Amino acid sequence: MNAVRSGVRIGLGYDVHPFAAGRPLRLGGVEIPHTRGLAGHSDGDVLCHAVADALLGALGLGDLGSRFPDTDPKWRGADSTELLRLVCTEVTAHGARVVNVDTVVIAEEPRLAPHLAAIRASLAALLEAPEGSVSIKPKRAEGVAMGGANGIAVQAVVLLSLGESHNEERGS
Ligand code: MG
Repeated sequence: MNAVRSGVRIGLGYDVHPFAAGRPLRLGGVEIPHTRGLAGHSDGDVLCHAVADALLGALGLGDLGSRFPDTDPKWRGADSTELLRLVCTEVTAHGARVVNVDTVVIAEEPRLAPHLAAIRASLAALLEAPEGSVSIKPKRAEGVAMGGANGIAVQAVVLLSLGESHNEERGS
């Protein structure tokens, strides 16, 4: 039961995946040339996962792990853009739309600056939001905190607006 009717909702997402050899590196649905990718039951797209978690959190719908459990062979090697699309479908079904998304991608490697425009465009398309509403900020961990040289961590925050769309059947 979801009691949300109108107004705005904020959601926070966080995810981290370790590097693994022999896998492509995918961020926001974009394949980034690198010597290794990210481990995971799915394709390891840590950016898609964190954004999806933020969306689910904004609506009080749990998290990605409970929706697509890594114990279920159905999601093995899953394309994370598909998981994010499924979450976006739920967002729409709740009469919500994305106002904006801001993310921090914490990675020592690879250098993400050359790929930011492509990642932003991909994520905006997945979210059906204008590119100006999507922000991706790469950050080095300076060898101190999470991320480090052993993986990539992502923080994501999302703002949703409710009650402006078409969900006529909200009950009383
Ligand atoms: Mg994940």
